[in-house]
Amino acid sequence: MKEDRIPQATAKRLPLYYRQLNLLHNQGRKRISSRELSEIIKIDSATIRRDFSYFGELGRKGYGYDINHLIQFFKKILEIGEASKVALIGVGNLGTALLNYNFMKRDNMRIELAFDKNANKVGTEIGNVPIYHIDDLEKVLQEKKIIVAILTVPARVAQEITDRLVQCGVEGILNFTPSRLAVPDHIRVHHIDLSIELQSLIYLLRN
Ligand code: NAD
Repeated sequence: MKEDRIPQATAKRLPLYYRQLNLLHNQGRKRISSRELSEIIKIDSATIRRDFSYFGELGRKGYGYDINHLIQFFKKILEIGEASKVALIGVGNLGTALLNYNFMKRDNMRIELAFDKNANKVGTEIGNVPIYHIDDLEKVLQEKKIIVAILTVPARVAQEITDRLVQCGVEGILNFTPSRLAVPDHIRVHHIDLSIELQSLIYLLRN
């Protein structure tokens, strides 16, 4: 199996599978059918079977999928060494909440450091994550070899910070700001817009 052959839509579902399979494993489950998994995570079972088929013949008819096997498999794909060290830029309302949360339930993925321009925050820690001054962005990111960043600054400074992140080698940005970021082709930006999500939910309920 070659990772680059996995379709993007499948790749996006992997963390969801991984999290649910871990929950089942922790409950002592050994096997699960695509139908049962489908009922739990609300993805249709044909999609699950097709997704899993990209990883070889992992399921058997009437037997289901071996949960432990799948977990080990997804773990290898999802754990990507250095990329799991993440920086967060902008320690305001949202940034603080993310630092306190810090993906505790996920292995090998953690916000290691944060940046802000507010002198009252610089030098302190939130959820054991040290906060540096934004002026030290280039120096610290390169020193720590960070290639993933979460952006929680005000929209008006988002592009300027993004340009600096790209300059110091960041390759992936999780953008919580409403600003549409311009980046070179090799940089990946995932945009999380809560108002769009809420709007589409309300729209679907009404239609
Ligand atoms: P906030 O004003 O509470 O926090 C912004 C933080 O960024 C502050 O700590 C500020 O000091 C820092 N900052 C400002 N300029 C900076 C710079 N040049 N370099 C480094 N740090 C800088 O804002 P918030 O409510 O946490 O929202 C952050 C972003 O996320 C905004 O773009 C907002 O639109 C978006 N957002 C917020 C929410 C929410 O619920 N608060 C939800 C979704 C998206």
